[in-house]
Amino acid sequence: MTLGSLLPGSEVLEKEEVVGGLCRSKVIEGFTYDIGGSHVLFSRNKDTMKFIERRLGDNVESRTRNTKVFFKGNYLKYPFENALSELPPEDNFECLAGYIESFYARRDESTQKPKNFEEWMYYRFGKGITEKYLLPYNEKIWKMKASDMSLDWIAGRIPDPPLDDVIRSSLGISTEGYTHQLNFLYPRTGGIQVLTDRIAEECSEITTQYAVKSIRKEGGGYIVSDSVSEKSFSRIISTVPIPSLIGCLDNVPGEVKQSAANLKYNSLISVFIGMSVPKTMDFSWAYFPEEESLFHRVSFPSNYSPGVVPQGHSSILAEITCHIGDDIWNMSDEEIIENVVNRLHQLEIIKRESVVVTDAARMTPAYVIYDSEYEANISVVEDHLEAQGIHTCGRFGQFQYLNMDACIEKAFAMAEELK
Ligand SMILES: Cc1cc2nc3c(=O)[nH]c(=O)nc-3n(C[C@H](O)[C@H](O)[C@H](O)COP(=O)(O)OP(=O)(O)OC[C@H]3O[C@@H](n4cnc5c(N)ncnc54)[C@H](O)[C@@H]3O)c2cc1C
Repeated sequence: MTLGSLLPGSEVLEKEEVVGGLCRSKVIEGFTYDIGGSHVLFSRNKDTMKFIERRLGDNVESRTRNTKVFFKGNYLKYPFENALSELPPEDNFECLAGYIESFYARRDESTQKPKNFEEWMYYRFGKGITEKYLLPYNEKIWKMKASDMSLDWIAGRIPDPPLDDVIRSSLGISTEGYTHQLNFLYPRTGGIQVLTDRIAEECSEITTQYAVKSIRKEGGGYIVSDSVSEKSFSRIISTVPIPSLIGCLDNVPGEVKQSAANLKYNSLISVFIGMSVPKTMDFSWAYFPEEESLFHRVSFPSNYSPGVVPQGHSSILAEITCHIGDDIWNMSDEEIIENVVNRLHQLEIIKRESVVVTDAARMTPAYVIYDSEYEANISVVEDHLEAQGIHTCGRFGQFQYLNMDACIEKAFAMAEELK
């Protein structure tokens, strides 16, 4: 089943030269990298995985995750709580003791239910794991205080280990967490964009370089314009980020405009580095909670597939979150690349002299932020869009923390509903 066959006669309007959004890949001097940061394919849903596998066909590599957390100069197994025995003994003890305390406090109901993300970390993981890893990492990636974030997004996003696993991990008995992501697929050649390219081939009509600027209701349908030409449709499904979509509509009440403007997101700067050596590290990717590095995650795409680099070469992709207009955003691409290369050299992940290609890409928006006003804001906007008969789908279309598999599932569900 293809999405195109579920909604025959539909037209996709895309503002860029190619479809793919965050899932686009770029080829530069024989290196392929994903400009929206490292993307790999995994899902809890077997049908969705089959859908993805069919799109990749033979062009696929399968990997078992080898991911790490950089802590006090060492690379610990990910998730952090599954690697407690790799910590210095005192840190191991504090993490285990905190975890057990929080477990019994929850069980005996001797602790208050958490009201924000920071409280949830202490409530669920205890002091040690929270203060050594979860809190610094999350405040680094989200670029906001965890106490200002809500709990609406956490389920399924943050590993949720049973007590037994954490005790085992502290004693050095091997355990795995976040297991639905343990094995993943990646296109052998072409980067993650292969998936969206294959899906695009199944769509009936695609018009690129058409940036929707206005949508107005007329005669039971909609007139859509990019300020150059108008198109008329009987129905609209929007994947345009909600704040931009609201800006395309007429007669939007002030409260709705304000709620859409209040929805928060992070932007992302991806720094790509092509290396003249066949390997730097064996990892899939590594998390960097420490303040010294601008990046929070570094991935090793040539470990996903040798087909994304010229023979005998390797590649690295560093991810940096920021807000438009902040100090990081205001750095030039050259400054950011230099900063990342220097830090990776200092950490002995690369040797500066082996760098043969660098590039940087900016994505905005990249991550939905669930702040304490999120639920109130999104419901005002959703009610308005529903009243206008406009359907929304996707990560920023719905303004939810959705991965590719969830976007595919939402798209099928919507197509079924509308067919
Ligand atoms: C750093 C990072 C890593 C990720 N890693 C993974 C991963 O490993 N696995 C996973 O499953 N998911 C991952 N994701 C999530 C994944 O990127 C998203 O789930 C997916 O790309 C969302 O697709 P979308 O179509 O909803 O949105 P987008 O990819 O944002 O696409 C929206 C599209 O709308 C177009 N558009 C916007 N405005 C207009 C307009 N006015 N007119 C016309 N077109 C417009 C854009 O150009 C774009 O093509 C990751 C995301 C990030 C940021």
